Parts: sequence; C-alpha cells; structure tokens
Amino acid sequence: MFARTLFNAEHEMFRDAAARFVAEHVVPHHDAWEKAGVVSREMWLRAGEQGLLCVTVPEAYGGPGADFLYAAIVLEEFVKKNASGPGLSVHSDIVAPYLVAYASEELKQAWLPKMCRGEAIGAIGMTEPGVGSDLQSMRTRAVRDGDDWVVSGQKTFISNGQCCDFVIVAAKTDPDARGKGVSLILVETDRVGFTRGRNLEKVGYKAQDTSELFFEDVRVPAANLVGVEGRGFVQLMEQLPQERLTQAVRAAVMMEAALDWTVDYTRQRQAFGRSVSDFQNTRFKLAEIRTQAVLHRVFIDRCIEMHLEGKLTAVDAAMAKMASTEAMNVVMDMCLQLHGGSGYMWEMPIARAWADARMSRIAGGTGEIMRELIGRDLVGRGA
Ligand SMILES: Cc1cc2nc3c(=O)[nH]c(=O)nc-3n(C[C@H](O)[C@H](O)[C@H](O)COP(=O)(O)OP(=O)(O)OC[C@H]3O[C@@H](n4cnc5c(N)ncnc54)[C@H](O)[C@@H]3O)c2cc1C
Repeated sequence: MFARTLFNAEHEMFRDAAARFVAEHVVPHHDAWEKAGVVSREMWLRAGEQGLLCVTVPEAYGGPGADFLYAAIVLEEFVKKNASGPGLSVHSDIVAPYLVAYASEELKQAWLPKMCRGEAIGAIGMTEPGVGSDLQSMRTRAVRDGDDWVVSGQKTFISNGQCCDFVIVAAKTDPDARGKGVSLILVETDRVGFTRGRNLEKVGYKAQDTSELFFEDVRVPAANLVGVEGRGFVQLMEQLPQERLTQAVRAAVMMEAALDWTVDYTRQRQAFGRSVSDFQNTRFKLAEIRTQAVLHRVFIDRCIEMHLEGKLTAVDAAMAKMASTEAMNVVMDMCLQLHGGSGYMWEMPIARAWADARMSRIAGGTGEIMRELIGRDLVGRGA
C-alpha cells in the first residue's frame, strides 16, 4: 500500500551492489572496529573502489555526479545492517558538499578526487567544548597574516576526528561580529600546530571515531578559505538541511529494521507456552511501531523528493529530523523491551541500535534547536 516510488531499476542495481559491499566488507569487521573505536583505512579505500563515496560529487572532481537518491541508498544499506561505524555519510553527504558548493577550483581538485577514492577522509569542526547549539559564540579564531590564515582554538565531538586528513573548521575571522564573523577554513591534519585529542568513548556509535581537535597557531594558505570570508555561518545554515535529512533517512530505515528484528524475535521466543508475539500487548506494540515506521517513511521520502527538487527548506528538514529521530528513540526502546534481557545484550542488533539512536536527538542540532527553528518560523524569535 505504501510502496516506495522514488527508485528505478538502476537505483535498485546500485542498492544491490551497496548491500553486497556492506555484507562482505563491513559486517564481518564491525565488532573489531567497535573494539578499536575506529574503522580500517582499508574499508574507505574499498568503498571508494566500489563507487560508494561522495556519490553526488560531479564527474569533473572524480565523482559519479549522481543525485541524492544514490546517497540515500548508500546510507540506507549501511543502516539496515546496523553498520554505524563507517562515517561515510559525514564524509560524503556533509563534508564533500561544502567543497562542491563553496571551495575554490584549486581546493576542489586537491581534495574531492581523493575523497571519492577513499584516499582522503574529511571531517567538519563546528562544536567546541564551550559551544554547541550557540554556534555564533564560537571561540576558535582565524587571523589573516600575509598569505596565510592562522587558526587557533579547539573543537570537540568531531566525527572522523581520528581518521580524517582534513577538517573544515568553522572559525571566527571577525570576533566582534556574531554569525557574520564566521568563516570556514580547510585545515590539513599534517599542518604544524594541529593535534588530535582523545578518541572519545561514546554510549553508541562505538566503531565511529569522535574526537577532540586542537589548533595551536596552525598556518594554512589563504586559499584554504572555503567560500566567502564572513559567510561561514550562512554556508553552514545552507548545508545543514541535507545533514538533517540524512539523519531522518537513517531514522526511517532504523525503525523498519528494528521492526523486522522484533517480529522475528517475538515469533520465535516462547513464554508461558506460546510465542511472545501471541500476547496481545506484543501485537499492539508491533502495530504502533509499524505505524510509526510507515508514517515516517512516507514523510521522509517526500522530503527526499523535495530535496531533489531543491525545495526542502531548513524548517522542513528540522521537522523531519526532530520527528523521525524522536520516534526512532521511542521505537528502539519498545523493540528492546520486546526482546527482554536479550535486548540489552550488546551482541543483539537491537541493543546497538538503541544506543546509536540516542545520538540523533543531539548531533546535527538538538531537538530543542529544531523546535526553535520551526517555532520561530511561525511566530518569530520572541522577546
Ligand atoms: C556522536 C556525536 C557526533 C558529533 N559529530 C560532530 C561533528 O562531526 N562536528 C561537529 O561540529 N559537531 C559534532 N557533534 C556535536 C553536536 O552537533 C552537538 O553536540 C550539538 O549541536 C549540541 O551541542 P552541545 O553538545 O554543545 O549542547 P549544548 O548546546 O550545550 O546544549 C545543552 C542542552 O541545552 C539545550 N539548549 C541549548 N540552546 C537552547 C535553546 N536556545 N533553547 C532550548 N534549549 C537549548 C540543548 O538542546 C541541550 O538539551 C557531534 C555530537 C555527537 C554526540
């Protein structure tokens, strides 16, 4: 009744290839990556060989120049298998678009082909120890000195922070102007003065590296400015809807996957002489979960369609992210409950999915900030 209508036969062939890649090159290693707190470099290179990185990057810069549907397919196939370790989406769907949209030709040629091949990994550094939601108050500075920018400050919670080869750093180039003083600057991780801090130990996303990053008077060429000086905040706001849409896409798939695991589990698990699925409570919960999954699937597919048409607004993306990630958290909890004690065991997919889900209500803008954006659009900022 609610069959998806977004994808054609070519998309489905690509989906099969992505699914095979995940089954062969990701799933068998995921436990080891969780223990290491980071995925192997080999995985990135293989994903590049298979054409699964930066799928929307134009051919002129080494990508296939495909549309966002292909990016959604890669994301969905990783999520279906609970493969949250590889930070491909940050690299492909968040970092690469900044370069495509705003970087100089020189920067694009220097980095995008390598990103497509998995030879260079990208990260984005906005959050600081003292500043997350209130990004305009960031302290990291970039001062122009001759032909260089000199970057100093600290970032934290940065995805791909341990494995990245460069970071797009949000820094104040005019500390007296709030949002209007922010610029984006590409900092290569082999520059003098750049150091990585700890690989932070998280509740979920165990195989994905998340780090503190330190910049001590790091000199980069003036040409490393991504976009226009002082327009960094606007550029962030322009790109955040796609980041938020990817979180919504992830949430929709996760709800469907968790429903499948839970139907299977409750059918085979026996209690009081019958299957757990035979209890009316189980059927009712499964019915609620299915309904949530379908509602979000239909809404998010429509958001994808609008994004392809260039019509997805920041408010639409905020609604998609807020609603789907909060529904996902409720659904993961219900599914875990229906697994009983097994659901709390790390070896079970639902345990990992439950832990991973919590991040999505925080990263990329919290649920409260999403509400601010949506509410402000209706009634303004208030006093
Ligand atoms: C796993 C993970 C990966 C991440 N990856 C990255 C990354 O790659 N790059 C990056 O730059 N950042 C990254 N982040 C950081 C993330 O974007 C921030 O954590 C998020 O924006 C919230 O900022 P904060 O943690 O400083 O919380 P705070 O801003 O300190 O918020 C604390 C609480 O106050 C609430 N609050 C704040 N302002 C308001 C307000 N105006 N109205 C109502 N409530 C408010 C928040 O909603 C929250 O509940 C990541 C975070 C996580 C957990």
